[in-house]
Order: sequence, then structure tokens, then C-alpha cells
Amino acid sequence: MFKKILIANRGEIALRIIWACRELGISTVAVYSEADAHSLHVKFADEDVCIGPAPASDSYLNISSILSAAEITGADAVHPGYGFLSESAHFAEVCEACNLTFIGPSPEILRLVGDKVRARQTMSAGGVPVLPGSDSALASGEEVERVADEIGFPLIIKAVAGGGGKGMRVVRSSDGLESAVSVARQEAGASFADDRVYVEKLLEEPRHVEFQIMADNHGNQVHLGERECSIQRRHQKIIEESPSTALTPALREAMAKSAITAARVSHYTNAGTVEFLLDRDGSFYFIEMNARIQVEHPVTEMVTGIDLIKEQIRVAAGETLGYSQRQVKWRGHSIECRINAECPDTFVPSPGLITSFHLPGGPGVRIDTAAHSQLNVSPYYDSMIAKLITHGNDRAEAIFRMRRSLEVMVVEGIKTNIPLHLRIINDPDFLIGRLSTGYLNRLLASGDTDVTGNAASAEGSA
Ligand code: ADP
Repeated sequence: MFKKILIANRGEIALRIIWACRELGISTVAVYSEADAHSLHVKFADEDVCIGPAPASDSYLNISSILSAAEITGADAVHPGYGFLSESAHFAEVCEACNLTFIGPSPEILRLVGDKVRARQTMSAGGVPVLPGSDSALASGEEVERVADEIGFPLIIKAVAGGGGKGMRVVRSSDGLESAVSVARQEAGASFADDRVYVEKLLEEPRHVEFQIMADNHGNQVHLGERECSIQRRHQKIIEESPSTALTPALREAMAKSAITAARVSHYTNAGTVEFLLDRDGSFYFIEMNARIQVEHPVTEMVTGIDLIKEQIRVAAGETLGYSQRQVKWRGHSIECRINAECPDTFVPSPGLITSFHLPGGPGVRIDTAAHSQLNVSPYYDSMIAKLITHGNDRAEAIFRMRRSLEVMVVEGIKTNIPLHLRIINDPDFLIGRLSTGYLNRLLASGDTDVTGNAASAEGSA
């Protein structure tokens, strides 16, 4: 087992990894940017090293600074968390070259699943259903039209190196095709330094249902059930839950089988997520594989009792999974609300000083956060400041616990999306589990009356 792990990340996930290391008796090294000098991950790690100025490109994405920090402190492994360098095949490669274990899949796997067209091809060849679409990155205007003719409208242009909902354009007729491709290309180039795009058939209001996979280096692969992530703003998730209200036992079994196939054909190791879109008729299609721990991993931990970060560390250290598929048991229901420092109506980030911060608690409530009173929420990084997670014996209990928690959570000084979460958690469609990726847009378009009695556009949050 490792003696010392360097955590190449910040915020709640850095703290979450520190807690796992403490439980395993592993010491920790925090790295931080100048903007994060007073952060909790710095305070709670055993050692810390400043790796550069606030912009992520100068610090959390600065590979040579991170490697120097590992060298200076004598770390033997690196946990990349999510975002930043977590899916960089290059980073994983240089870690290995420096005798540092990268806690995640191999560079080859990262390269494969990081290329969404290659991933589609591999899955399709392995028998995992994929949506009709292009077999390779689009080369020319003519080719786009040929693919569009083949699959028909509506369709969606997506970035080959995509992530975070960026570089995606929906096209409903041939009129807008060419300009959509060029806009998607530009956005992809700016976001991922890779302007390749591909085309996929658009599903109208599908559900986003993903499966958690855990695989060791000895050929054992299990799935830990699904997460329903259909509540999204701008193709980004804001509420996730497990199990999904959409799955019958038979559909769950079929999707889980495809998820395991996806792991098998990509020779996957460590924690990963196989994302599917689920159509209204029960057909499902692979869209991508995320080769890292996901933001929403806690809902899986709550229903399975398995600590995914500890599992990642154990697997990276060469241990075998300590359980078979049959031994994985699910209990109750879990929901996660991503609390973002943003305006609840416009989703515009709202950085600044948190003047007052109060967290809910009690049975079935878990909070993963690195925020606190007097924290200056930096404009340089992601706006998520906390994850509020509840667990109940059933969905209704998880919802009641979420509602009471959101009602007493206090974040003052900045705006948060707590009012939006309250609105969702009280919405009749949410309550019966009638969800799709179009759910949030419909809710927001349905007027401004908030069933909780709070103005949905309230300044600040309570
Ligand atoms: P990213 O890697 O940027 O997160 P994904 O491929 O995971 O991109 O898709 C993110 C979201 O975009 C999905 O959850 C879904 O809401 C929407 N989406 C992606 N592909 C399609 C599609 N073919 N049809 C309908 N919606 C889609």
C-alpha cells in the first residue's frame, strides 16, 4: 500500500480524498494555488506545497510543478480527483515515468475513452448499443451532409474530446448544419485544444442514466448500480440520484450488462462511469465513458456502503476487489444536490465572500464541502461549493431529508442555487420521478411561482 499520496486537486474532492487516506493510514500532500493558501485541503493535509498562481493553467494544470511537489515530498502516488488533470493520458504517463502511481486507469485507457469517436467504435464493435452517428471525426462540409442524410434530423454535433457539455450543438434541419459545425468546432478548439467534432442522432428528452464500474488490475469487474442524472442545466448535472425511477429490474440488468461489456472491451481498470441515454421506449445507448471518480459518486456510496475513493486507492495499489458482483448489495435511496455559487435563475457564477455558512445534519444527511464562513469563493474555479447528499430507506424519505436540509442550509454573502433545488425538490414531476434531460428547462419555463413560498429568484440564499 502507498505511504504518501499527493492530491492534485482542490475543494471538496481534495478533502474527500484526504478523509479516505486518513482512514487507510496513508499520509497526504496537498498542492494549492496562491488563491487557495487558506483552503481546508491545505489545512488538513499532512504536507502542502504551493504550485503557482490562481489561474488553473499555472497551478492545478501545471504538470511540472505538481511533479516537483511529489518529488520534494516523496509521494508515491497521485490522486487526480475529477476535472483538472484527471483524464489526461499525458499526465498519467509522466507520473508513471516518474515512478508515481497515477490513481486511475492506464494512459491507454484514458486515451481511448477520451476520444469519444474511438470509444463509440470500440463499444459498438463490442456489442454495446450506440446512437447512429459518424464513424470518425468529421472531415469536411460534404461529409457532414452525407452523415446527416444517413441518420436524419434532429442531430447533435459533439466534440471528440468533449466534456462538461461544451462544444455541443443541436441541429434540426439542413439549414443550420454548416454553421452549427463551425460553431461547435470553434468551441471545441477553445475548450479542449482539439477542434474535431462528430455527429450523433439526437434523442428528444431522453434520460441520462449512468453505471458505476469498479475494476481491478486482475480482471475483476463489477458494477455498483446506476445513477439518474437527468436534471441538468446546459448539459451539466445538478441533481443525481440512485436508484433511477426509470429502471425496471429487467432494464437495469440489461443496462448493467452493457456497462460491464463496456468495461471489458476497453480493458478498463479502477473506477469509471459508463454513461447512457435512455429513450422513452426503453432503448438505451452508450454516449461516453468517464475515466475518473465522478462528482456524483456519493449517491452510489450511500446505497452500496462502498467507499469508492478507498477502492480507487486499493485497486491502484494492486489489490484485488474484495467482493464479487453477487456480494454487492443496494440499500435504500440517495439523492445529491450540487450547491453552486451562482444565480439560481441565470446560472451566472456568484463568487465572493461567504459571510455566514450553516450546514444541516441529522440522520441520513452527508455534506461534502470545503467551504466555510469567511471563505472567499474564487472566480478562478468551478462554482460548486458543496454537495448535499441524503439517504433514506426509500425515495420519499431521501426527498424529505433533502427538503428539510435545503430549508435550513444557510449560505450568505453570495448567491447560490439552493432556491432552485428547493423548487425542484417540491415539484410534482420530480416527486413522481417524471424526469428527462429537458426537465429543468420545462420547469424554468413554467412560471415563477415557487411551491415552497420562497421566491425562486431570491437574492442570496438561505
Ligand atoms: P459531456 O462529455 O460534454 O458531458 P455527454 O456526451 O456526456 O457530453 O453528454 C452530456 C449531455 O448532453 C447528456 O447527458 C445529454 O443531456 C446531452 N446529450 C448528449 N448526446 C445527446 C444525444 N445524442 N441526444 C440527446 N441529448 C444528448
